[in-house]
Amino acid sequence: MITEIAVERYAFSCIHCGRAWTADYDVQYIPENDGSLWAFYHHEGQATENPRADLLVCPDCGRSGVQPRLLSRREIPVADPSSTQPRNLVTTEDRNLSAPRQPTEQLTRPGGAEP
Ligand SMILES: [Zn+2]
Repeated sequence: MITEIAVERYAFSCIHCGRAWTADYDVQYIPENDGSLWAFYHHEGQATENPRADLLVCPDCGRSGVQPRLLSRREIPVADPSSTQPRNLVTTEDRNLSAPRQPTEQLTRPGGAEP
């Protein structure tokens, strides 16, 4: 059972070439029966490692040594169907409404300025 959902925004910078960018990660927290809590990360809809796991490779120079920094964290409440919280019936038509895709990654110049 998911106990918490969040969107975490990270700033990354390459110690070799200076490339800098930001990216959003979706995180789901799921407890195991033994009491441990596990985080599952997704980026661009794909399962991925924790962005702080020191496994990232710079997309420009291809070298490891990317420094991550957590910029922000937005928690998304998990709905409780047994509660009296407001709810809306969703039709297939509602689910298929088209909208621009929200960007999850953005390049920045060294020093943090956006291009
Ligand atoms: Zn680099």
